[in-house]
Amino acid sequence: MLIDVHSHLNLKEYYNSRVIFDIINVAKQKGQKYILEAGVDYETNKRVLKLSKEYDIILPCLGLYPDTCYESKDIIEKILKQLKNEEYFAISEVGLDFSDDTKDKLIQINLFKRVIEIANDRKKVLIVHTRKAEKESIEILKEFCKTKVILHCFSGKINYVKELSKDPRFFFSIPTNVLRSQHFQNMIDILPLSKIFTETDSPFLSPSKEEFPNKPYNVEKTIEEIAKIKKLDKKEVENMIFLNFQNVFY
Ligand SMILES: [Zn+2]
Repeated sequence: MLIDVHSHLNLKEYYNSRVIFDIINVAKQKGQKYILEAGVDYETNKRVLKLSKEYDIILPCLGLYPDTCYESKDIIEKILKQLKNEEYFAISEVGLDFSDDTKDKLIQINLFKRVIEIANDRKKVLIVHTRKAEKESIEILKEFCKTKVILHCFSGKINYVKELSKDPRFFFSIPTNVLRSQHFQNMIDILPLSKIFTETDSPFLSPSKEEFPNKPYNVEKTIEEIAKIKKLDKKEVENMIFLNFQNVFY
């Protein structure tokens, strides 16, 4: 019952339909249950919806990526309409990214709040990207968000992880590059298993630098790493993460 809660097979620069077909076949053989596909803008949101109609294993998530916030007003309104009106599973990928200092932060903050309002109205789980904006993202989510939140590929300070692990609304998804990242290994160590999800952020964050693009079934390697760190059986970890999935999304 492998689950990848954050993937971008919809990025056509890296995956054509034949490649996706092959990946899904291998994923099914490996017992993958779901792949949560994340859109980042209007076009990728449309592709996510299309892919979910082609493959039952794909659950469509629509998003508005921080960089997308600088598109024209027309495009932004079209994306917000998708989030308000389409049938989809969760909101992903949204959040704040302040790694580029030259960009207007307020534009991102205001749109993030509008997306949170939609999540509240439609009772959608939010899968959040936050980079160099942890303080602001967490404050906004704590104040405005009424639904559950999964912080994906969280690179902020470990103190935030400790603090949020006590808050029933927050969860973390560990990417497959955990095999080569002390930070994510520490996160696994600190977090209770009930707070952990697995993701790939495909095509990025592969278990090894040589593998590109990444594939959603590589979450099995994260499961192995969690089992090793927590000194548990692999199957036990896999089952627990599936249970987390059911608890948060249903
Ligand atoms: Zn992503």
